[in-house]
Amino acid sequence: MNDFREIDDSSKEKDNMDKKSNNTDEYEKVCYICRRTESRAGKMISMPNNIYICSDCMQKTMDSINNSGINYDDMMKNLSGFGTFNFQDISDSITNKQKLKKKKKETNYEPIDLKKIPAPHQIKEMLDQYVVGQEKAKKIMAVGVYNHYKRIATNPKDIEIEKSNMLMIGPTGSGKTYLVKTLAKLLSVPLAIADATSLTEAGYIGDDIESVVSKLLAAADNDVEKAQHGIIFIDEIDKIAKKKETRSRDVSGESVQQGMLKLLEGSDIEVPVGATSKNAMVPLATVNTSNILFICGGAFPDLEDIIKERLNKQSSIGFNADLKDKYDKETNLLEQVTVDDLRKYGMIPEFLGRLPIVYSLESLTKEMLVDIIRKPKNAILKQYKKLLEIDEVELEFDNSALEAIAQKALEKKTGARALRSIIEEYMLDIMYEIPKDDNIGKVTITGDYINKKGAPLIQMRGYVVPLISNKN
Ligand code: ADP
Repeated sequence: MNDFREIDDSSKEKDNMDKKSNNTDEYEKVCYICRRTESRAGKMISMPNNIYICSDCMQKTMDSINNSGINYDDMMKNLSGFGTFNFQDISDSITNKQKLKKKKKETNYEPIDLKKIPAPHQIKEMLDQYVVGQEKAKKIMAVGVYNHYKRIATNPKDIEIEKSNMLMIGPTGSGKTYLVKTLAKLLSVPLAIADATSLTEAGYIGDDIESVVSKLLAAADNDVEKAQHGIIFIDEIDKIAKKKETRSRDVSGESVQQGMLKLLEGSDIEVPVGATSKNAMVPLATVNTSNILFICGGAFPDLEDIIKERLNKQSSIGFNADLKDKYDKETNLLEQVTVDDLRKYGMIPEFLGRLPIVYSLESLTKEMLVDIIRKPKNAILKQYKKLLEIDEVELEFDNSALEAIAQKALEKKTGARALRSIIEEYMLDIMYEIPKDDNIGKVTITGDYINKKGAPLIQMRGYVVPLISNKN
C-alpha cells in the first residue's frame, strides 16, 4: 500500500515538474530507486547520465551487498569499467582505513600522568640534543608545553588556566618546524603540520580551516582521545595577515584568522575521518580542541621594519633622543616584537589574544651552522660517517671544510635548509668513488675541496693520496 502511495506521489511530482519545464532551475532531483524528491529524501548522490540516488537507498544497497556474502573485491574488479561512477570511493569508505576506532575500548591512549610530564629543564635538555642555539625559544617552549600538559593532567576546577598556544616568529630555515617536530617526538604526542597558505574560509577553493584537525586525527591513527592531546603546527601564519586595500572578500587572510578563533580557543569540531573534506560517504568524528596545543609559526618578512620604525620613533622623542638610524644595523630585532607590531602587520587582535606566548628565533650565524652540521644527535655529518663506516671507511670534515659549507649556506639565505643540499653535492663523488677501492681507509673533506680548489684527502690504509681532482 505504502509503495503505491510512493509511486503516486512521485508521479504527481513528475507532473508538477512537467508544468515547470520552461524553467530548469525549478527542477528537483528525484531518487532513481525510491522516486522520492530531494526535499523529502535529503541530499542526493549524483551519478552519470543525470541519475540521482538518495543516501537511504545508497545505504540499503551497500548493506545488502555486505550481507549477501558477495566477494566485494571481486565485484569491484568486475565493475571497474562501469561508466565514470567511482566505485572505489564507496569501497574506500567502508574499508578499515576509514573506520573510526571505538572510543574507550580500543584507544591505547593513557591519560596524562602529572608525574610523567618531564620538567621544563628536562624538556630543554632533550631539545638541546637536537636543536642548536635558539636558547630562549627552547626555554619558552619547554615551560609552555609543561604548563599545557600540567593543565590537562590536573584540570583544575577552581581556576581556569589559560591555554598556552604559541606564536613563533623566525626567519626561514631557523628551525621552527624542527623544534615542534622534535618536541612532539620527545613527548610522544601526535603532531599535524599544516600550511596556512592553503587554508581558506569554508566553502572556497582550498582546504577549509577544520582540515587541520582531521590531519591531527589521521596522525593519531584515528584515535580521537589521542588526537585531543596532540599538537597542531600551522606554518606560514604570516601569509594570512589581513590584506591591505583589498576590494574583494579576504577569504584567505582575515577570514581564515576569524575562522581559526574557535579552534584555538577550544570547541567541538566535526571532522571527516580519513579525508580532508566532508561528504556523504565519509564518517565524521567529533574532536574537542580545548586540549590541543596550537603552535603557529611564520617568518613575517617585513616585521623588522615595523619594529624598527616603532623603536626609532620612541628614541627620537624627548631628552634621550637618539640617532634616527640607530636600529638599522641590529640583527635580532625580532626579539623585541610586541603585539602592537603584529597587529600593524595584519594579525587581528582576537587572533593574537588566543596565542598568549609570542617569541622569536634568532637568525643562524656561521658558527651555528657549523654546529648544526656536526653536533646534533642526528647531525648530517654523523649520518654520512655512519654510511661510510659500513664500508669500513673513516670520514672527516676538517674545520676549513665546515666553515666553507656554512659560508655557502649563509649566502643562500635559507638558513640551515641549504646545508643538506650543499653537503650532498660534494658527497656524491665520494660515495660513488669509495666503494671502487677496498684499500681506502679514510677520507678527509677539506675547505679547498668545497671551494673547488683541490681534492679531498684519501688515506689508503697506510699512505695519503688525493682521490678526485675537481679543478676542471
Ligand atoms: P623553518 O624555520 O623554516 O621551519 P626548519 O625547521 O624546517 O625551518 O629547518 C630546516 C632544517 O634545518 C631542519 O630539518 C633541521 O634539520 C635544520 N635546522 C634548522 N635549524 C636548526 C637548528 N637550530 N638546529 C639544528 N638543526 C636545524
